[in-house]
Amino acid sequence: MDDLTRSVQNRRDALIRLTQDLIRIPTLNPPGRRYRDICDYLEARMAPQGWECQLIRAHGTPGDSADFPRWNFVARRKGARPGDCVHFNSHHDVVEVGHGWTHDPFGGELDGDRIYGRGACDMKGGLAASIIAAEAFVAANPDHAGSIEISATADEETGGYGGVAYLAEQGAFAHVDHVIIPEPLHKDRICLGHRGVWWAEIETQGRIAHGSMPFLGDCAVRHMGAVLDEMEATLWPLLAGKHTEMPVIPEGARSSTMNINSIHGGAVEQPESFTGLPAPCVPDRCRIVIDRRFLIEEDLAEVKAEVTALLEKVKARRPSFAYEIRDLFEVIPSMTEKDAPVVRTTAAAIERVLGREAGYVVSPGTYDQKHIDRIGKLKNCIAYGPGVLDLAHQPDEWIGVGDMIDSAKVMALVLDDLLSGK
Ligand SMILES: [Zn+2]
Repeated sequence: MDDLTRSVQNRRDALIRLTQDLIRIPTLNPPGRRYRDICDYLEARMAPQGWECQLIRAHGTPGDSADFPRWNFVARRKGARPGDCVHFNSHHDVVEVGHGWTHDPFGGELDGDRIYGRGACDMKGGLAASIIAAEAFVAANPDHAGSIEISATADEETGGYGGVAYLAEQGAFAHVDHVIIPEPLHKDRICLGHRGVWWAEIETQGRIAHGSMPFLGDCAVRHMGAVLDEMEATLWPLLAGKHTEMPVIPEGARSSTMNINSIHGGAVEQPESFTGLPAPCVPDRCRIVIDRRFLIEEDLAEVKAEVTALLEKVKARRPSFAYEIRDLFEVIPSMTEKDAPVVRTTAAAIERVLGREAGYVVSPGTYDQKHIDRIGKLKNCIAYGPGVLDLAHQPDEWIGVGDMIDSAKVMALVLDDLLSGK
C-alpha cells in the first residue's frame, strides 16, 4: 500500500462517523426536509480546513418554498498551481422510509461492516467517501495543482431541478474538467451514463350516459382497452426487439422498455371511508401514464412517433375513437466515451486498489449526469461510488465500510493522478 491509500485506510473511523452524521440528518424528499441542516453540517466540517464553502438556494425551482428551501452546498479548494478542476457531486436528498425496517432508518447504526439507514448507499456513503478521499489527498499534497470541488445537491430523487440542474444553469460547471458522481454502482464499476426517458399521458375520450343504456354513450375505457390490446400485440414485441450496444445493467434493460405507470377511467374514486355505491355512468375519459425508456441508438421523435402511429391505427378501426397525448417529461440518453480522461484515470485506480479490471456499465434509469451533460455541456463525467445499487430505496438500506474505504482509495488515486502534477 502506498502512503496515500494508507492515509485513507487510517481515516476509517472518521469515515464511519461522517457517514453516520449524514444519515442522522433526515433529508427526506419529497418534501425536501433539513436541506439547510446538512449543508450547514458540511460547511462546519470543511470550512475550518480551508475549503471555500458556498450555500446556494435554488430559488423558484419546483418544491422551493419558505418551509422547504432547496439548499445546495459547494466546497472548493484551489491548489498552489494551475491545473484541472475535479468535481465530486453527490445528492444529499433521500427517498421516503417505507415499511419493513428492522434498523432505525435515521440511526446510522454500525453493525459489523455495515452502516444502516435511509440514504446509506444512495448516497451519503458515497458523499462521505469522496470527502475522506479529498481530505487524505490534500493532506498528502498540500500544494497540489488545479482545484477540487465537492458538492452536495438537492432533489436528485425528484429530477434534480433544485440541485444540479440549477447549479449548471448558473454556470457552476463551466470551469470543471472532470466530474465523478459517487452513486452506488459498486466499487469496481464505472457507470458511463444512462438510457433516455419519455413520460406521457394518453387519454381516450367518449361520452357519458346512463350505465343501463351504454349504447347511448361511448365508453372511454373500452377505447383504452383497444389501445392496450394493440400495445400487447405490436408495441412490446417491437421494443423487446431493439437492442443496445450500451452496457446497461441489469441485462433486461439492454432493450427498449415501457411501463404503464397508472390507469384511471370513469368516476373519481371515493375515499375508503365512503360506504355508498358508485353511480351507473358510462366513463367518458380514461387515462394512462406511460414511462418509455429508450436507447442511445433511438431518436426521441421516433420513439414518440411509434406511439402516435399505434393510436392512429386504433382510430382507423374504431369510428368514434378520440384521444389526446400529452408529454410529461423527457431526458436524452447520455454516455461518456470509454477513453474520456476521467474514465481512464478511474479505471487505472480501480485496478491498482482492487487488483482487477474495472467493469463498465450504464444505468437503466437517469441521474444527475443528464444535467451536467445537457446544461453543463460537460461530457467528461461518470458515476462511480461504493454500495449495492439494488439496496437503494429498499428497507434496511446499508453501506459497507470496507467498500467505502476501497472507493475512497480509488477517488484519492484519481485526484493524485489528475492533480499532483507528477
Ligand atoms: Zn442516488
